[in-house]
Amino acid sequence: MRKTPRIGIMGGTFDPVHFGHLVTAEEALVQFNLDKVVFMPTGRPVRKTHRHVSSAEDRYLMTVIATASNPDFEVSRLEIDRPGDTYTVDTMLQLREIYGPRSELFFISGADAVREILTWKDAGRFAELCTFIAATRPGFDADLDSLEPVQGAVAPHLEAMEVPALAISSSDIRSRVSGRRPVRYLLPEAVAAYIEKNGLYREPVV
Ligand code: NAP
Repeated sequence: MRKTPRIGIMGGTFDPVHFGHLVTAEEALVQFNLDKVVFMPTGRPVRKTHRHVSSAEDRYLMTVIATASNPDFEVSRLEIDRPGDTYTVDTMLQLREIYGPRSELFFISGADAVREILTWKDAGRFAELCTFIAATRPGFDADLDSLEPVQGAVAPHLEAMEVPALAISSSDIRSRVSGRRPVRYLLPEAVAAYIEKNGLYREPVV
C-alpha cells in the first residue's frame, strides 16, 4: 500500500447488499484512485427505529458473500462488534488509528445521508476526518450546488457521484421478497440464496 493510503469506507445498513452498492464501490475505487474499499455494515443503526432491521450477523454475512470475489473489497466487523448505537465518527477515529495519521479516508454512502450529516454525532469532527462521497440515484439532483448548505458547513470534504445502478434499492428488494416477486439480477445470486435459505424479508414490509 502507498505511504499515504487512500481508503474508501462504504457505510450502510446493507439490508440487503445489492448490485447498486457494488457498482458504487467499484466506481469510487476508480474515480478516487483508492487502494481498497472497506464495506462497513452498521451495527445498531441509530435512526432505524421505524422498521425491523435484519441481524448484524446476517447483514455482515451477505456483504461478505457479495464482495468475496473482488480483491479490492473488504468487509469490516468494526461497527457490528462495537457495543451500543453506531456513530460514524467513532468508526472514523478507529480507522485513523488502524491506517495511521497519513491515511486519507473516504466515506461513501447514499446522498440522502449527506442531508442529515449535520445532525450526526460530532459532525464537525467527522468532516475533518474524511471526504464524504455522496452516491446519488438517477433523478436525484447530483449538482453539488443543491447540497450547498451542507457543502458550506463541511467544505471541502464533499463529493457527489452519480451511479445509475443505484436505481436498485434495498427497500424494493425487501418488498419484492415479501411479495414473492423476482429479485434475480438485482443482487448476487449467492446473496439471494442466503435470503431464501434464512427466510429473510418474508414478512410484509411495513
Ligand atoms: P439508509 O437510510 O439506510 O440509506 C439512505 C439511502 O442511501 C438509501 O436510499 C440507501 O439505499 C442509500 N445508501 C445507503 N448506504 C449506501 C451506500 N453505501 N452506497 C450507496 N447508497 C447507499 O442509510 P443508512 O444505511 O442507515 O446510513 C448510511 C450510513 O450513514 C451508515 O454508515 C450509517 O452508520 C451512517 N449514519 C451515521 C449516523 C451518525 O453517525 N449519527 C446517522 C445516520 C447514518 P439502500 O437502502 O438501497 O442501501
